[in-house]
Amino acid sequence: MAAADALANVRNIGIMAHIDAGKTTTTERILFYTGITYKIGEVHEGAAVMDWMAQEQERGITITSAATKCEWKGHTIQIIDTPGHVDFTVEVERSLRVLDGAVAVYDGVAGVEPQTENVWRQADKYNVPRMCFVNKLDRTGADFFRCVQMMVDRLNATPLVLQVPIGLEADHIGVVDLIDMRALTWRGETQKGEDYAVEEIPAELADTAAEWREKLMETLADVDDAVMEKYLEGGEFSVEEIKAAIRRATIAGKANPVLCGSAFKNKGVQPMLDAVVDFLPSPLDIPAIEGTGTDGETPLQRKPSTSEPFSGLAFKIQTDKHLGKLTYMRVYSGVLESGSQVVNSTKDRKERIGKIYQMHANKREERSSAKAGDIIAVQGLKQTTTGDTLCDPANPVILESMTFPEPVIEVA
Ligand code: GDP
Repeated sequence: MAAADALANVRNIGIMAHIDAGKTTTTERILFYTGITYKIGEVHEGAAVMDWMAQEQERGITITSAATKCEWKGHTIQIIDTPGHVDFTVEVERSLRVLDGAVAVYDGVAGVEPQTENVWRQADKYNVPRMCFVNKLDRTGADFFRCVQMMVDRLNATPLVLQVPIGLEADHIGVVDLIDMRALTWRGETQKGEDYAVEEIPAELADTAAEWREKLMETLADVDDAVMEKYLEGGEFSVEEIKAAIRRATIAGKANPVLCGSAFKNKGVQPMLDAVVDFLPSPLDIPAIEGTGTDGETPLQRKPSTSEPFSGLAFKIQTDKHLGKLTYMRVYSGVLESGSQVVNSTKDRKERIGKIYQMHANKREERSSAKAGDIIAVQGLKQTTTGDTLCDPANPVILESMTFPEPVIEVA
């Protein structure tokens, strides 16, 4: 088994944002850096630039599926589409249900906007661990610290500021990493998606960086007893200790790491991917999913393990012009084989699993089976609609315990 497939190395995430904050651009850059669009360094430089520009022209075409898989530093990142529009509240709730963590993208000029506020509150309701990316710092009027303050005032969040920007607007060239106190800069031809240079913190930012590093450690001490104890004793923290504490605080929902940059100008995206891997949970880090028996009452749990009976939740139905009806499913426990018979426990119907697909941004891959933690698309389900549980016929469970705001039909 490849390391990236091990459950501990899987990150099922959503990207949430107010419309225009840069969700699409950020997702595209993630696919670019993770080599989905093309492998950086593997193609001739001229061809790489051409591909990159062609991709720019085809904006939006790459992200058509409800879930997209990519890899970053030995980890699998599955991006589950989270609708940004308020009209899709039920869909937002459903997507929040199947992801383990999220990145909230903010417009660095507008700060916290109404739709981010809505989806943030929904994510609070489902205890989704979140980090924040303050985007568009290259724009006129960008103000990183104002945006951070809005997270406190409007979202009641506990921001863990992990970076401060180096320059804003046209002068935005990078970030200071407050964990290991170094500067990451992108000074060259950013259209090629170059890697960052690691430099000393610029002298004019030394005080700001020291001040925000202190705030980072204070906030961590506030939310983490182990950090508090050592902090009070005046102990030194290693980079690993700080990262472990940030991870604990994020997964526990006690704080939100904040990073920044400009997705459009390719600044800040790689460190943001590092943070997804370092701080957001794997399926093993979240509590076992709680459901009920088919009576709708008896509590039942399913752990994220291949040795548990199969259970999964259908969260999106899409029609593909070649494949027909595709049911996107999060597998919570066990193993699902193509061709097998399962039960739709929500509707009390048998279903035969057709082909199983792993969906990527621009291609699909047939798989013979799927396992706990996977997000896949299944062909051939006839009766299943979103929100339905599919499970092992011998071990039925109903996972969807949420009551969705479905319309109420009154009978006179
Ligand atoms: P979405 O609605 O959240 O998916 O936003 P998009 O990714 O489509 O971005 C909306 C607009 O903002 C587009 O014109 C993008 O090119 C632009 N944009 C996105 N990120 C940045 C950024 O970092 N800097 C600047 N200046 N523009 C950006």
